[in-house]
Amino acid sequence: MRDKFGREMKTLRLSVTDRCDLKCRYCMPEEGVAWLGKSELLTLEEKIRMVETLVELGIDRVKITGGEPLLYPRLAELVERLSRLSLNDLSLTTNGTRLEPLARPLKKAGLKRVTVSVDSLDGERFKAITRGGSLKKVWKGLMAAEEAGLTPLKINCVVLKENQEDVVELARLTLEHPWEIRFIEYMPVTASVRLERSEGVPPREVRRTIEEALGALEPVASYAHAPSTDYRFPKAPGKIGFISSVSDSFCSRCDRLRLSADGFLKLCMAHADGLALKPLLQEGAPPEVLKERILGAVYHKPEGHAFWFTTPAPGEAMSRIGG
Ligand code: SAM
Ligand code: SF4
Repeated sequence: MRDKFGREMKTLRLSVTDRCDLKCRYCMPEEGVAWLGKSELLTLEEKIRMVETLVELGIDRVKITGGEPLLYPRLAELVERLSRLSLNDLSLTTNGTRLEPLARPLKKAGLKRVTVSVDSLDGERFKAITRGGSLKKVWKGLMAAEEAGLTPLKINCVVLKENQEDVVELARLTLEHPWEIRFIEYMPVTASVRLERSEGVPPREVRRTIEEALGALEPVASYAHAPSTDYRFPKAPGKIGFISSVSDSFCSRCDRLRLSADGFLKLCMAHADGLALKPLLQEGAPPEVLKERILGAVYHKPEGHAFWFTTPAPGEAMSRIGG
């Protein structure tokens, strides 16, 4: 499954719900967003059918996301069904608030690993950025995930001026734990959350701060289409990744498609283009038709984003896109 630039699609970000129990400053507006209605959402069977179809077309890595995926009531069942497909990776990105009780059942269902979003190791700052989140709870979730074997564990941190001073302590975790800490550049994806560009911190600045405090990083190899460029401190068990989506775009090696909770196959996070699959499923489109429509849409995947130079579609909250 290739687009007109020759990029082969291998990774699917599957958003299982648009709902979230936090309102992170860079992701959701303070007043929240309207949730999709039940009748608009893909059913469990529809989600599975769509993933199966995409796997037949070449997808071999599935990342479950949200909103907050742990709010999806049938998550373990979904994971169990997806784990039977021929995939090289089945992972989940979560804010961690409900991870403590769910880590073990998800591992048992066949989930391989998790990425947990932790923007600060300071409880007050964490609460401010997530608009009410409890770092203690998330940390317990993280520990439960490690104990359950949902590894290698990754931590995502979107770096804003507000939490810039946390990057050294987060990076220090890699000296003791076999975790990957990924520092993400803020992306102005949605019109409803438009921080000033100056509120974000470019990854090269994050790297400089970390190296000044903890010493030089050395490059390490990672998955060829990974959005992050990875490093480690000499002999450290963990890794540090920088996701420079804006200042050093990785669009030319993008292998991702996104399927939203209401069945929209989104071709690029920064563009509205895509294919509404729910109506096709409801019309009873046969597998060949579905595949043909998907291949046709994927061919026209946009070349890349032009963040800060284009106006994003209104209402396209990042929480709904799923990161
Ligand atoms: N709720 C889950 C979580 O927070 O991990 C999954 C969905 S969230 C949208 C996925 C990832 O996108 C998170 O790591 C989050 O930090 C990141 N993210 C959200 N808004 C962002 C933005 N404007 N720029 C960069 N990353 C963003
Ligand atoms: Fe925060 Fe994830 Fe919810 Fe967005 S979807 S508000 S990043 S927890």
